[in-house]
Amino acid sequence: MRFSEVIGHKEIGERLRNGVQSNRVAHAQLFDGPEGSGTLALALAYARYLHCNDRTDLDSCGECSSCRSYDSLQHPDLHWSFPFFKKDGGEHATSLPFQSAWRLRMLAGPYFGQAEWLDAIGADKKQLFISVHEAMEINRKLGLKSFQGGWKVLICWLPETMRVDTANKMLKLIEEPTDRTVMLFVSEHFDALLATIRSRVQTIRIPRLSDGEAASALTERFDVEASMASQWAQVVDGNVAAALRLEQSEGSGTDHGLFVRWMRACYGQDSAVIVELAEEVSKLGREAMKRFFIYSMHMVRQCIVGNYGAMELVRLTAEERNFAEKFAPFIHHDNVIPLQALLEKAHGDVAGNVNGRLVFLDLSVQVNILLRKTT
Ligand SMILES: [Zn+2]
Repeated sequence: MRFSEVIGHKEIGERLRNGVQSNRVAHAQLFDGPEGSGTLALALAYARYLHCNDRTDLDSCGECSSCRSYDSLQHPDLHWSFPFFKKDGGEHATSLPFQSAWRLRMLAGPYFGQAEWLDAIGADKKQLFISVHEAMEINRKLGLKSFQGGWKVLICWLPETMRVDTANKMLKLIEEPTDRTVMLFVSEHFDALLATIRSRVQTIRIPRLSDGEAASALTERFDVEASMASQWAQVVDGNVAAALRLEQSEGSGTDHGLFVRWMRACYGQDSAVIVELAEEVSKLGREAMKRFFIYSMHMVRQCIVGNYGAMELVRLTAEERNFAEKFAPFIHHDNVIPLQALLEKAHGDVAGNVNGRLVFLDLSVQVNILLRKTT
């Protein structure tokens, strides 16, 4: 991850590089920003820049031996810490058994959240934390001489999962740093971070990405189709991690089948089928339901485009287009906005943990009314 690969945040990147160039590198910094804003990406680009042997004003060189070891995240003076769970049988819980999973997760891209990390280490619903022994291990590692004679960098993700005893063990390092050490804390919830740490680090606020920044990144880097990308970005508030989560669980074939059955049932006021679908959709789980509502918004939007005589502009698969051609006349300027608003609200309700079955049933009644509204 180089600065050129970080999504947005150009000014913050510039400020970080200026600091390095003018030798003003605070030894304890906090990158604080919401999930999917790219805090880990920035921290990693910054660490790489610090270590690069041939950096320019704009970025790390990408070619020196240090940059090459960053390509595989195996630089000996780059240390990682992150929340984990205690494996059965181990006496002292440290991040060691999880380091290679972490490296793989980071190599797959630094835009992820706790859900992906839980997945990566098979933690299911276990509570993750940074243990006291982990803090001791960090003290030990950073107390060693640097391997390559330059900076020793620690990137510590989610320091807010430290408990008081752990944070206390970190304080000495923060207050009396070992030689040429940089500690980069990367948090999502500043307020949850212990005040003892909060007050001793230089905080850099990373704002959420704009919908536009997130959408173009999704299209350019993750191959998400443009109209889908802008819809996703909007629904997830520029959170790239959440948008990628939607993409991961993408199953538009299934979504399409469900959507067709649902629209038919809504239009035909077929309550038996609607109840059946409510069961089926709610069983898919929260993420899949959210995705289904986003898919539905996408279909509705494509229908309105098709309706204005631009069927060739519509971004749909052959199967979807087939359906849209017949369905489009039921979507018009009198119902499209309330329909989108309803779908968006349903998405929000499901995200906020409202009972999925009830959301779906309630929504279906309202969709029925809107579909039957004639211009
Ligand atoms: Zn380099």
